[in-house]
Amino acid sequence: MSIKGSIIVKKFGGTSVGTTDRIKAVAQRIIDAKNHHDNIVVVVSAMGDTTDTLVKLTQAVASQPSSREYDALLSTGEMVSASLLAMTLIEMGHPAISLTGAQAGVITEQHHSKAKILDIKTDRIKTELANRKVVIITGFQGINQSNDVTTIGRGGSDTSAVVLAASLESTECEIYTDVDGVYTTDPRKVTDAKKLSEVSYDEMLELASLGAKVLHPRAVECAKENNIILHVRSSFEFSEGTRVKELSKMEVNKPVTGITVNTEEAIISVLDVPDHPGAAGTLFSELGKHNINVDMIIQSVENKDANNISFSIQQEELENAKTVTQAIATKMGARDILVTTDIAKISIVGVGMISKPGIAAKMFKALGDAGINILRITTSE
Ligand code: ASP
Ligand code: MG
Repeated sequence: MSIKGSIIVKKFGGTSVGTTDRIKAVAQRIIDAKNHHDNIVVVVSAMGDTTDTLVKLTQAVASQPSSREYDALLSTGEMVSASLLAMTLIEMGHPAISLTGAQAGVITEQHHSKAKILDIKTDRIKTELANRKVVIITGFQGINQSNDVTTIGRGGSDTSAVVLAASLESTECEIYTDVDGVYTTDPRKVTDAKKLSEVSYDEMLELASLGAKVLHPRAVECAKENNIILHVRSSFEFSEGTRVKELSKMEVNKPVTGITVNTEEAIISVLDVPDHPGAAGTLFSELGKHNINVDMIIQSVENKDANNISFSIQQEELENAKTVTQAIATKMGARDILVTTDIAKISIVGVGMISKPGIAAKMFKALGDAGINILRITTSE
């Protein structure tokens, strides 16, 4: 049997499948869509904050859990939601099947916890679709060459969905979440935030990397590479949502598209690093070797023989980053390290800013007027 027509990929996030009642509502939505579309592939996240709970369990038994076992445990969250959704659909009279990442042919890099998806062998998915089943796939996971379960990084289900869409030659991937689209800023914090009907890949990539939680940055990157339209929609109400796609500069006519805030970073400063060529290289290669992602970097000259180098990282990587930095700082002859966690990063994003001067100044003035002191300033393309 072969598949007729195109395949549509729909991803439902943790809140959308957070309770069995919500799973039933998602099932109903899939059945409605099935009336218009034959081939539906669904990607699910774990129910609610299941993954966080699983992480806490690992912390209760191990200080540095084996990364293989860590992935084996974390991958179970998505298995629960996928099989429950399949059962619900079957109960409602609609053929469905759940597949784990491994069963769906999701092949990843060898290493654990942040493995990239390398390939998807789509035969099994296509066979099940040809059998007229709704195929429900666990997001966030795959399998490596050793046949071990891997996970692809927290929040990775969006990426699973987009890579699946690319492998199945879909032109659009629907991301169902608890907000009805991408807003100019977090609508839960700012009541007059406005919904955007369209956003360009580049702007969405910036927004997502800088803290907008609606989409995972890697998913946006992957959608851009494969020219897949991301359609962000609410799983609780019927509305048009936001389409993330290629937009020409002409189509983006406002300087600022969105504002993000990130309160999950920390700053580590290395004090009095002896000033000689290669110092920064040594420090950041060491962090890179330990898989620690560095965001903003600032170097300042305190006296003529030594520099302070400071950088920001995700707070969840702080313990690891502190240990690594302390060790390398001592080796390099730096005086000490200093950690700051009580910070927020505010970003304004918009491709239109390049051609419109004075926007940054306006932002700084607004912060100053509100009595907020600025610690660091940086710009990006
Ligand atoms: N359940 C995983 C997490 O919470 C993956 C995801 O939700 O996208 O990180
Ligand atoms: Mg999640």
